[in-house]
Amino acid sequence: GVLLEGVTKKYGRQTVLDVPRLEVPRGSFTVLVGPSGCGKSTGLRVIAGLETPDTGRVIIGADDATNTPPGQRGVSMVFQDFALYPHLTVEQNISFSLRLEARHNRRTGPSQAEIGRRVTEACAMLGLEKLRGRRPGQLSGGERQRVGLARAIVRRPQVLLLDEPLSALDAQLRQHARAELIRLHRELGNTVVLVTHDQLEALSMGTNLVVMNGGKVVQSGTPGEVYRRPADVFVAGFVGSPA
Ligand code: ATP
Ligand code: MG
Repeated sequence: GVLLEGVTKKYGRQTVLDVPRLEVPRGSFTVLVGPSGCGKSTGLRVIAGLETPDTGRVIIGADDATNTPPGQRGVSMVFQDFALYPHLTVEQNISFSLRLEARHNRRTGPSQAEIGRRVTEACAMLGLEKLRGRRPGQLSGGERQRVGLARAIVRRPQVLLLDEPLSALDAQLRQHARAELIRLHRELGNTVVLVTHDQLEALSMGTNLVVMNGGKVVQSGTPGEVYRRPADVFVAGFVGSPA
């Protein structure tokens, strides 16, 4: 799991993150919701190590990862816009970080055969076998989303961070993708944190729900707890609790 302790982050004079304590249980599917600009993406970036908090500690599994570089935390992140490399094929996009790791750590990094096995496995899990040779520009939004996911899971992260990965999809694809993500979480058995604006996803997809507002965590618990006993009027409005 992930534990944030006393984490704060400012941009200029604006405090965008102020989290005294947040625990994301190991193996949970945790959904993170809150209005635009409340700090969800910043929170994920702090967990991924793409952003250094001004204060506090980020604990991943049993380790204090506050000063661990992003690639060595066992955390992968899928970005709001997927951020695929446009000039690389699907297969090259998926294998990119593993090939980099192999080049930098010739002894401890993955072998060519291992990279091939893991890419094949990730493509199979996400139904990308027939698209391996295409470039991102030749894919639909939903297909691009699956490549983004494959690129993250090929690293076998203990923590998978998903920043609104379904926002580019139409209603039908989105429904399908929700089920795929839940299945993926079961198969991988890892910890997933998913950011969404969708009330239905907030209440139905995860085992845990975290509601943020203005850089703070205003409530966390199971979706049922949050829905039935919202901490305040803001949470009630946000998750649509009965008045
Ligand atoms: P959305 O739902 O729109 O994606 P969010 O909850 O993910 O919003 P963040 O991207 O975490 O919000 O941003 C939180 C706050 O920090 C916002 O006010 C945003 O303008 C500000 N912010 C984010 N990144 C930077 C940056 N690099 N420099 C300055 N301010 C930033
Ligand atoms: Mg965001």
